[in-house]
Amino acid sequence: MESKFDVASIRKHFPILEQKAYGHPLVYLDNAATTQKPRSVVKKIEEAYFSHNANVHRAVHLLSQQATEAHEAARVVVQQFINAAEPDEIVFTRGTTESINLVAFSFGEAFCREGDEILISSMEHHSNIVPWQLLCERKKMTLKVIPIDDNGCLLVDEYEKLLGPKVKLLAITHVSNVLGIENPIKQIIEKAHKQGVPVLVDGAQAVAHMPVDVRALDADFYTFSSHKVFGPTGVGVLYAKRSFLEQMPPYQGGGEMIDQVHFEKTTYNRIPFKFEAGTPDFIGTAALAEALRFIQEIGLDKIADYEKQLVNYALQELSKVEGFQLLGNIPERHAIIPFQLKGIHAYDVGLLLDKLGIAVRTGHHCAQPLMERLAVDSCVRASFAFYNTSSEVDRLQAALKKIYKMFN
Ligand code: PLP
Repeated sequence: MESKFDVASIRKHFPILEQKAYGHPLVYLDNAATTQKPRSVVKKIEEAYFSHNANVHRAVHLLSQQATEAHEAARVVVQQFINAAEPDEIVFTRGTTESINLVAFSFGEAFCREGDEILISSMEHHSNIVPWQLLCERKKMTLKVIPIDDNGCLLVDEYEKLLGPKVKLLAITHVSNVLGIENPIKQIIEKAHKQGVPVLVDGAQAVAHMPVDVRALDADFYTFSSHKVFGPTGVGVLYAKRSFLEQMPPYQGGGEMIDQVHFEKTTYNRIPFKFEAGTPDFIGTAALAEALRFIQEIGLDKIADYEKQLVNYALQELSKVEGFQLLGNIPERHAIIPFQLKGIHAYDVGLLLDKLGIAVRTGHHCAQPLMERLAVDSCVRASFAFYNTSSEVDRLQAALKKIYKMFN
């Protein structure tokens, strides 16, 4: 595969990729689960602990001021990364899961009543299903699900039919973590807004692979996890429009989120701090900012182009493997190839690939309802990042050929 993208230079920033697994050069194709970290991100963490580790927002001393500055500067980096209107619209959480739970609880408290409905789609990660089920149980509401076709594409006509007057919120993934399908989010949001329905977009599988502009999308809520975008674990982002954050009650109580505490009555801090109870992962947020700077320097348009080329090459080469069965016959997919090898359990394929130095994920990928809809109990998922190469695709192809032969 010919490409102008300088992947060899990029790989030098990721020491983990130089490792061997069972004597083979490691091929890491589990990027949808978590991404690897460039040196600069790990250096940022070390530097923060060694030079300005102190709790944020509370002390007058120098270290605390430096830590606070780094943490708040990270908020601005995130704001600019997704083109939010202001840093106050960025709430730091522990990850996509916590961001969605926060909205499910807090939006639910502010806006939902018995008999209301929440709309999700059939292709959601469990993180974008269970928090809404909890809300529906708590408030005696109904969860409605937009169906998909046999290839996993959203049925837009059915979606429009479901957008009734009882729907209080639509929560939908930007890119499916199993199929790599990108939903037409802008049109979906437009249709929801016409009916006065706000939209939460789960961007966990999008932000590492394409430029995201929350204002161009007009998303009301947008969520993602640092660890899936080359940043550290334990940090997540919730973008929400100011008007919602101001009307929503706190999700957790504790330090940071308060204005005045008295036994008779407590008043709350301004946004976004109202939603950030306790000590935030201020070192993680600074490292996330570094990860976002790192990919912005490469350019998300360039990353998207390269990954598209790489995934097309992989689809072309893997389809030559006897027994290769792709899940979801869709024209374009983002960085994810879900498949089965005919007659061989996905778990066996994953285990044998591992022994050949290739890391993939197998199972239901935290999307059991989607797997049920597609009538499969598990599949293999090869998921790519911009540091993967066409020769790694060739290694995957050769390994799958070998495994198929072994079983036949
Ligand atoms: N949503 C999607 C689409 C995902 O792929 C994932 C993780 O795989 C999540 C949500 C949950 O992310 P986290 O575990 O980082 O909170």
